Amino acid sequence: MKIRHPEKVNNPINQIKKKPNWIKSRLLNSKEFFNTKTIVNKNNLVTVCEEANCPNITECWSKRHATFMIMGDTCTRACAFCNIITGKPKPLDPFEPNKISSAVKKLNLKHAVLTSVDRDDLDDGGANHFYEVIKETRKNNPDTTIEVLTPDFLRKGDSYKKVRPGSRYFNSLELLKNVKIINKNIFTKSGLMVGLGEDKNEIFQVMDDLRSAKVDFLTIGQYLQPTVKHHPLERYYKPEEFEHLKNIAKSKGFLLVSSSPLTRSSYHADEDFDKLQKNRINQNNAQSIS
Ligand code: SF4
Repeated sequence: MKIRHPEKVNNPINQIKKKPNWIKSRLLNSKEFFNTKTIVNKNNLVTVCEEANCPNITECWSKRHATFMIMGDTCTRACAFCNIITGKPKPLDPFEPNKISSAVKKLNLKHAVLTSVDRDDLDDGGANHFYEVIKETRKNNPDTTIEVLTPDFLRKGDSYKKVRPGSRYFNSLELLKNVKIINKNIFTKSGLMVGLGEDKNEIFQVMDDLRSAKVDFLTIGQYLQPTVKHHPLERYYKPEEFEHLKNIAKSKGFLLVSSSPLTRSSYHADEDFDKLQKNRINQNNAQSIS
C-alpha cells in the first residue's frame, strides 16, 4: 500500500481528539454531488476538496461548487497540518488551462475558485501557470468571477514556522499588500486556522497585520488533524468563540468575516463574493455621504 505521507513517518504519534458534536459534516448524496464528481473525474482534475479531505465536500459539491487545485496533486512543502501529498511533482500539464476552463463551463459556475499546491521547484513558483489558467478560464467563461487562493510563489514567525516550514509570514503579507498597490479594487482574502496551539494575542496580531495589508475578507475555521502523524490538534474552539473572533475581526475593519468551525477558505465562496461586493458598495456610499 502506498503511504500518503512518507515524509511524516518519523513524526511522533499525536492521537486525534474526538470531535465535539458541533463539528458535523452533512451527508448529502445528491444527484448534483455525483454530477460534480463525474465532471471532475472525467476531466482528470484535482480538487482541494478531495485532496485535503475537506469535511464540507458533500455540501459544496451538491451545489456544484468545487475548488480546483492546479499544478498537480503533489506539493513541494510539508506543512504539518496539511493532508496534501508531499514530494517531487510531475511537470506542469500544458493542457490544464483548457481542462479547468471547460470544467468551469460544464459546471456552469458563476464563481470559480482556483488554488494550487506549492511549486518551489519552478522558477516562478507557478505564477505564469496561474496566469494561463485564469486567462483561459476568463476567455471561455466571461461572466464567471474568478477567485484565486494562491501560494506565496517564493520559497521564502515562530510557531508559524513550525507549522509551515517552507513559508515566510511577511512574504505572504507583502504579496497581499502588492495586490492592492497594483489594483485597489481587487478583493483580497486570507484565512486563519485555529486550534493548533496559538494564543488569542497571536490571532489578533495576524488580524492587525492583514488589515495593514488592506485585506478585505478574513475566514476563520477549526483545524482538523488529518492523521496521527500530523500536527497535534490543541483544542476545539466552541461556536461562540468563533462568533467572538468574528466580532473582533469586524471591529478591526474587514469588509467581510466568515468564522465558524467548518469555515474553509473556499467555503461558500460564491455567496460570500456577492456579500463582499454589496458591502463595498455600502461602504463607498457611507464614505461619500460623510
Ligand atoms: S470548503 Fe472548499 S475545499 Fe471544502 S469542499 Fe467546499 S470548496 Fe471544497
